[in-house]
Amino acid sequence: MFYSLTSLRALIIDADDFGGRPQIITDIIKMLGQSIEVALVTRRNWIARVPPVRTFHPIDMTEHLDSKILLTRAIKELKVPPCSTVYLCSSTVTLELTKDLLLGSVVFPNQPLSDIEKHLLYQESPDFVVDSLDALYKCLSILDTGYAAEVASSPDRLVKANFGHSTTFSPTVSITPNPKDSTASLYSSSAKPTTRVVKLPNLQHPECPYFVLGRYFGPSDPRHALHALSLRLSHFKHHHSPHSQLFANLFLRGIEAATGGVFDLITQVPSRPEVGDRLAHILRIMHSNLSKQTQPADSPHARTSPTSIQSDILRCVNSYPPLKGLNLKARKASVAKVFQVQKDIQGKRIVLIDDIVTTGATINACITELKSAGAASVTAVLLAYHPYGLKARPSKSINICTECGERLGITFDSSELYFECLKQTGDDSHSKVSFNNAFSEQFQKI
Ligand SMILES: [Zn+2]
Repeated sequence: MFYSLTSLRALIIDADDFGGRPQIITDIIKMLGQSIEVALVTRRNWIARVPPVRTFHPIDMTEHLDSKILLTRAIKELKVPPCSTVYLCSSTVTLELTKDLLLGSVVFPNQPLSDIEKHLLYQESPDFVVDSLDALYKCLSILDTGYAAEVASSPDRLVKANFGHSTTFSPTVSITPNPKDSTASLYSSSAKPTTRVVKLPNLQHPECPYFVLGRYFGPSDPRHALHALSLRLSHFKHHHSPHSQLFANLFLRGIEAATGGVFDLITQVPSRPEVGDRLAHILRIMHSNLSKQTQPADSPHARTSPTSIQSDILRCVNSYPPLKGLNLKARKASVAKVFQVQKDIQGKRIVLIDDIVTTGATINACITELKSAGAASVTAVLLAYHPYGLKARPSKSINICTECGERLGITFDSSELYFECLKQTGDDSHSKVSFNNAFSEQFQKI
């Protein structure tokens, strides 16, 4: 049985954040009902004031001040996969860690915030900032349906500098709740957009914003098998894109969200000459989709015209070796001077698309070329970023059976999730790994 994991099963509440108002925790727990597990993590012992409920796991962290330990303990205690767990807090101190580990994060501030304050809070990368129990409930319902991808933005001021328009919040949209992991639902344009902002520290080009649609974990990370976008991206990398339609769609929506429709040209980071240009292929699909459609005026793609899509603006004039395994310095050296602008782009506002950003070396080399050829602005729209960049690269894929080399499937019994060999028959389970064990093991390496 395949179990869709991008659904909400547990909530970790940073109880210290709500220390001044224990009643709110009681209210939240009541609101959630009995189906959602709750872990309250605290470094103080005031927790006794919250009345116990069935799903309640108080975790006394008096001895441990490190947030990573606190979070791992809560995850272990809950026995719920991190991809089904949401973190709730009232400040953003631990968000940097949680956003890459869990299904999502919600900030519920202790006092009402002005729009500007909310905006600043969103820059710290929570999925949602809420100001009432009702709003919290709505956000959790959205997270509960799971998501295939989300649009993330770099700081808003960069957008203003580039495009001269201002918005109350960063232009963000999440792409398509995906409860049943059915690819068909990902094409649906009626999917409810939701807000999500992820900051990409230390990655982006100093002058140009990145907009990123989601996360890519890589096959050696157990979460890879559970995240719809991450999984599809590895197909995109290794096979010839069974999901090209999906990606073309995601790019169009991401570009609209990132630019508000204000740009002149869309182009791609070119592949090495000996490799098929999969992004150029995506651009062709985007082009043909836009040519075919007669769009209603309020369509999100209405302002993107087929003629703005051009795949031959940048060319890779010198091949370079695959960057996998290289450090940032070596990556930068490999891609220096390999990209060349082929057309007059003087004064143009350019959208540059790419699939996954790891260190930013390749895309930043392209941005630099475009800017020196006179581009007025460059906005990078990417399908995913690698949350740990080059830090975590275990050599062996955890999704491969050590006994027979088959791909491990995902199985689920009433209490736990497993990676299990698909060749297994009956009780003769020659390869079965609990998700939580696999996850903790990988987590220790980071
Ligand atoms: Zn096997």
